[in-house]
Amino acid sequence: MNEIVAPLLAWGVPRLRDLPWRATRDRWAVLVCEVMAQQTQVARVVPKWQQFMQRWPTPGDCAQAPLADVLRLWSGLGYPRRCRNLHLAARAVVERHDGVVPNDLASLLALPGVGPYTARAVLAFADSADVAVVDTNVARVLARVTGTALSSRVSQELADATLPKGRAWEWNQVIIDFGAQVCTARSPRCSECAIAGGCRTYATFGTSWNADADPARTSALTSKPQARFDGSDRQARGRLMKMLTTSGVRVADVASVMKLGDDDRRAWRLVQSLERDGLVVVDGEWCRLP
Ligand code: SF4
Repeated sequence: MNEIVAPLLAWGVPRLRDLPWRATRDRWAVLVCEVMAQQTQVARVVPKWQQFMQRWPTPGDCAQAPLADVLRLWSGLGYPRRCRNLHLAARAVVERHDGVVPNDLASLLALPGVGPYTARAVLAFADSADVAVVDTNVARVLARVTGTALSSRVSQELADATLPKGRAWEWNQVIIDFGAQVCTARSPRCSECAIAGGCRTYATFGTSWNADADPARTSALTSKPQARFDGSDRQARGRLMKMLTTSGVRVADVASVMKLGDDDRRAWRLVQSLERDGLVVVDGEWCRLP
């Protein structure tokens, strides 16, 4: 694997995408961006991240804000549970770490909603620590270069072993960008790939891509086909959350707001799931943000 490092850095460093959070080394700013960017397109994250950091530049600022305000700003990014967890994480940082996002893996992993990728991303991108991150892009590249479907543990071990010490910030950014732009999920651009010579999948298939035999398909941590969104519970919940950012909704109107026709039972089940997640409160006849 180490043979891919030099060519990938040479390819990627001059091409690093100009993303606003790449100019910061603030742990809170990195944490916010990493939570926002999970399963959400970068173009949608950029303006929201800028607004968020302007309004709540520290964990303490966010911790003091009502969750409803944070959810209003979050609207449009989807997955509001991530927002709720980020708000809880801000409060935990204030309570446990004097308002400063910690710089050790165990403490980061103990924060609400922070998993192995996010914790390592904070260390790599804020502190330039020698830590390898494995997101869906990186997991895909590792699987294809090795020509093997990888478990999450083996992916992380491979990433750790490949990391060029002292260049963690650049390396992690470059391999993520490479996966996002060249070694893409559906149609990798193998004919222009800087590391094709060291790629086992390319050695097997050349430019005749065989999606069925793609080792990334069955690797852990790689993106899998999403369940259909139209008509899903997620879509219905999203409709209600969007409406709640502007006003309360009468319980009797929830099915209509969710566009579920007269399926009040399904609507009520979804309201209860949002309530359990701490994203809505039901107060008599009304649903509101918490
Ligand atoms: S040769 Fe193709 S599959 Fe292999 S790393 Fe490059 S883009 Fe990915």
